[in-house]
Amino acid sequence: MSKQSPILQSKLPEVGTTIFTVMSQLAREQHAVNLGQGFPDFMMSEELIALVNEAMQIGINQYAHMNGWPLLQRRLAEKVEKLYGNTIDPDTQITITPGGTYAIYTALTTVLQPGDEVIVFEPAYDSYIPNIVINGAKPVLISLQYPDYSIPWEEVRAKINARTRMIMINSPHNPTGAVLREHDIRELQKIVADTNILILSDEVYEHLIFDDIPHLSILRYPDLLARSFVCFSFGKTYHCTGWKLGYCISSPELMKEFRKVHQFNCFSCDSPKQVAIADYIQNEEAYLSLGGFLQKKRDYFRELMKATPFKCIPSHGSYFECYSYGHFTDEADKDFAIRLTKEYGIATIPVSAFYQNGEDNKVLRFCFAKKEDTLEKAVRKLIHLL
Ligand code: PMP
Ligand code: GLN
Repeated sequence: MSKQSPILQSKLPEVGTTIFTVMSQLAREQHAVNLGQGFPDFMMSEELIALVNEAMQIGINQYAHMNGWPLLQRRLAEKVEKLYGNTIDPDTQITITPGGTYAIYTALTTVLQPGDEVIVFEPAYDSYIPNIVINGAKPVLISLQYPDYSIPWEEVRAKINARTRMIMINSPHNPTGAVLREHDIRELQKIVADTNILILSDEVYEHLIFDDIPHLSILRYPDLLARSFVCFSFGKTYHCTGWKLGYCISSPELMKEFRKVHQFNCFSCDSPKQVAIADYIQNEEAYLSLGGFLQKKRDYFRELMKATPFKCIPSHGSYFECYSYGHFTDEADKDFAIRLTKEYGIATIPVSAFYQNGEDNKVLRFCFAKKEDTLEKAVRKLIHLL
């Protein structure tokens, strides 16, 4: 018998390995400082770890309810009420998911039919487009306006038609750190009013927002929430990206459909971690202090980077800040990122990876969610670049 696998028709023929895996792998091979893939290198809360241990010790090791641990859902609803002034029903509007990426994929799979169009702003987090394509739908791409990466609303209006099923937004934005302002929300409200257009709002960086800018969560706007899936990640809020736990909030009607997909995919999420977070979430300081904590890191990194030839494109949120380099070399960003890893021992992410057509503005994304020592080590390597 032949050991050859049968030939299959790829559902994602254009897709290779995600840039985050590629650059982290290269960083490991080259023993480089990794400011590429977004994850903290500092310790998460010991208290939260102890709470998970305790939950396991007392026997919370079996399936949780498919929608989530009820106490966690309830406490999330209380948090939403307090932060965003909106009353949501924990039973029918919140589903705990294995991470934000899964919540996004599930929302898209819940609603997309072949031929539907989804408006995606680029640079876009790299799972969005494959998640649309695998559902037989079509991404309609709109470039954010370089260099402040704002949304060109006139172009959005021009690209909407009867097939437009959804608009995807992400604030604070990965990879640029751009954040949505009030006029953006007003434009969005005007555009979707009296249409059947849905919104997917990726808010995994909700607490990682700087410069006293408020996070304009879709959860603040009942008219928008009625047509939205809003996706979050505990990995980002509690410095534990490897835990892969998050949640989605939507209207009861949309959530009912979301759960039909969810129940036959992962069904339910890690119970001891849900129990632990349900307790730890009562510590408001842990998430309210996050913006200030990461802003200090951004500022420290930005200050260090002044000694290098890179030009800062200011970030107002997320784990990331982008830097341009076109004024000192015209290398393609992917080549440059690889050369920096191999020759200078520092890994970054080339921002062209977030454009389907590989648009290259000669910009690299740096993750500053690191110990000061790591940031210093990284920048020391860049000082002698020229
Ligand atoms: N959306 C964006 C914009 C992200 O940067 C990430 C990164 N991790 C995610 C979603 C996914 O989060 P998770 O790790 O919880 O799946
Ligand atoms: N969100 C992280 C980033 O942008 C990575 C997540 C992943 O590797 N899939 O770097």
